[in-house]
Amino acid sequence: MRTVLTVVGARPQFIKASVVSHALADSGVLREVLVHTGQHFDDDMSEVFFAELGMAPPSHRLGIHGGGHGAMTGRMLAAIEPVVLQAKPAAVLVYGDTNSTLAGALAAVKLHVPVAHVEAGLRSFNLLMPEEVNRILTDRISRWLFTPTEAARRHLLREGADPSSIVAVGDVMFDVALHQGARAGREGGVLDVLGLAGQAFVLATVHRAENTDDPARLAAIVAALRRLATRLPVVWPLHPRTRALLDAHGIALQGLMLSGPVGYLDMVRLERNAVLIATDSGGVQKEAFFHGVPCVTLRDETEWEELVAAGWNRLAPPHDAEAVHATLLAALGTRGAPVQPYGKGDAARRIVERLARDLDA
Ligand code: UDP
Repeated sequence: MRTVLTVVGARPQFIKASVVSHALADSGVLREVLVHTGQHFDDDMSEVFFAELGMAPPSHRLGIHGGGHGAMTGRMLAAIEPVVLQAKPAAVLVYGDTNSTLAGALAAVKLHVPVAHVEAGLRSFNLLMPEEVNRILTDRISRWLFTPTEAARRHLLREGADPSSIVAVGDVMFDVALHQGARAGREGGVLDVLGLAGQAFVLATVHRAENTDDPARLAAIVAALRRLATRLPVVWPLHPRTRALLDAHGIALQGLMLSGPVGYLDMVRLERNAVLIATDSGGVQKEAFFHGVPCVTLRDETEWEELVAAGWNRLAPPHDAEAVHATLLAALGTRGAPVQPYGKGDAARRIVERLARDLDA
């Protein structure tokens, strides 16, 4: 049986990997070795997803987090290399756009192990985002480019990627929403804990460095959300980084309903019941659409351009609280066009089938 070595490290990667891990286990021909870099390490940013989404615990925990981008990526690279040498995988599988993605891809390609990139081809065209750099470099050195959308495929072709390496499979997040989201139901859990059952509320998440590291942008977002909270409860499960930076910048949060990060099933309950979602998360933008909820993206641009085109999502660049607040109000009660740009919910199975075929497993 051939081995696929998966490298994950951040919350959205555990969620994406969960469906592919199950498909690998079901394949009967590929064996998975899972490496957790440690980029996200709190129980509520990591362990909860393994437990809730039925994933086997990682075979290797590298325990690497914190420090600057260079130090973190470098330490991961150095730590992943011996794991690849020991496991001798036929391929290394990486997800998305974090430092763990780039370190996994780079460690593999230098050892002549082919790389499979899930969520290939996304572009914000903003090289100031660490995620954009990670994606472009990972795509460039990957043997398999598993794209979630037509736009992603187009970006790769325009950049000169070998068409035979691009595999349009759809979005694994859609698989997760269909297969795991159904388990969440519409009631109970966090809704009871926060006293939100039967209430209209807005859900917010903020974690991108471009927002959290810039006190003016973070303050504009908070001011807009606080103003909206005078009409409707605004629920905000705080990412640990965001909480630390809100404290560091001394930004007041009165009027908002704050919680720590929630597990995936509670997040789905919040998303399904929200009347509006305001976020800078990539995954949450799509989940808003999967659950039929209008979304405002608190960024200057988005990789999920098809949702803006279809009217499910609006951009609210957080330069000015007034403008963000106006966009939030304008989005309330809207719906987009009936599109389905993310495939059929069978992306994980198609990824594994393609790997098994090409690896002659
Ligand atoms: N998520 C979660 N709990 C939270 C916030 C987010 O389970 O408190 C989930 C969310 O449902 C989505 C994923 O985390 O599936 C998105 O991850 P994140 O926003 O950290 O990263 P991004 O998608 O922007 O890369």
